[in-house]
Amino acid sequence: ALDWFAATPGAVWQQHAPAGWAVVAALAGVAWIAAPRGVPGRALGVFWLLPLYLVRPPPPDPGAFRLVVLDVGQGLAVVIQTHTHSLLYDAGPRYSDEADAGGRIVAPFLRASGVTRLGALIISHQDSDHSGGAQTLLQTVPVDWLASSLPEDHELLAQRTSDAIRCEAGQRWTWDGVRFSVLHPGPAHYANAKLKPNDLSCVVRVDSSYGSVLLTGDLEAKGELELVRRDPAALKADVLIVPHHGSRTSSTPSFIAAVAPRMAVFTPGYRNRFGHPRPDVVGRYADAGITLRRTDYDGALTLVFAPGTALAPRAEREHDRRYWRESPVRDGSPLD
Ligand SMILES: [Zn+2]
Repeated sequence: ALDWFAATPGAVWQQHAPAGWAVVAALAGVAWIAAPRGVPGRALGVFWLLPLYLVRPPPPDPGAFRLVVLDVGQGLAVVIQTHTHSLLYDAGPRYSDEADAGGRIVAPFLRASGVTRLGALIISHQDSDHSGGAQTLLQTVPVDWLASSLPEDHELLAQRTSDAIRCEAGQRWTWDGVRFSVLHPGPAHYANAKLKPNDLSCVVRVDSSYGSVLLTGDLEAKGELELVRRDPAALKADVLIVPHHGSRTSSTPSFIAAVAPRMAVFTPGYRNRFGHPRPDVVGRYADAGITLRRTDYDGALTLVFAPGTALAPRAEREHDRRYWRESPVRDGSPLD
């Protein structure tokens, strides 16, 4: 019987994080409702509660977009929001049999942001630090289409036959004036059985009038050099999500030179066992004068590409500091 109740539409109320003023208005409304008997119009106080439920966090304006690199530990999950659409690039790792980043981090973040539907989910490749949270996410949030480099027999594709496609270089679409294009892999990569999953990482660029981002999954040196050889100009971007969490098998000098980002974002797990990011790789970006950020130290990073916004990310660990959260121990790398 409980299943029946749980299945009724609207059985679970998903609430976004309300704006500060909506909370103040709601508190005033509660005080009004709780006023002593005889105060006229007490019931009207209920209207003061409505903004709490009805006013959603504002989306970016048409032509602008918001980039949020979530802190999922060792792994990747990036949310891109335009005026009316949202995209998730990778869904973070699986932590245990019961827990994964999709259910613990990405879905709650989307809910708090007022995102009730994803226009697209891109899973760059099959490694579990990128795909591990996808199953839970697909069960929690409606997704219009899924693009990936997953093998055809992957469990994630078993349930989605009609709206799952392969990432393929040349695919493009535009949402609210923001342009998306897939740069890698191509049909020849899928046909090459010798390539590792990392080599098949979907590489996606996002362009707006206010800046651009390049997402590279876990691409390694071989894929980077191919992209540089094919069309270096297509790589130029303001922000680079650094390939493979800053491993030494990626971030070749010619790739960094072609992308020439103003900011590089590393997505390693805090004190991860792989030693990502490698100090020499971090140094390569630092020596080129590129601003460095990393989610293990900064927490989630939010960048807004809109008129008049400089590349000034909001770092959750700074912005949302709490006395019970320890400061990360930084390891003496050039980022300190
Ligand atoms: Zn990875």
